[in-house]
Amino acid sequence: MPIFEYRCPRCGQVFEHWWRGRERREELRCPQCGEQHVEKLVSALGTRGSSAFGSAGSSCAPSGGG
Ligand SMILES: [Zn+2]
Repeated sequence: MPIFEYRCPRCGQVFEHWWRGRERREELRCPQCGEQHVEKLVSALGTRGSSAFGSAGSSCAPSGGG
């Protein structure tokens, strides 16, 4: 059950498509705008819990005790 990621160059929508059975490439469309010419992204299978952002720095805010 291959799952691929696609990106629509028209609206920028990124979606996954699960190729099951005998599905044709022509049936693949952008769920957002219906564009057929979508770009295939690199399959990122196996990546789970990826931290794209690092730990934010500590901000020193002057807090007035009261
Ligand atoms: Zn689109």
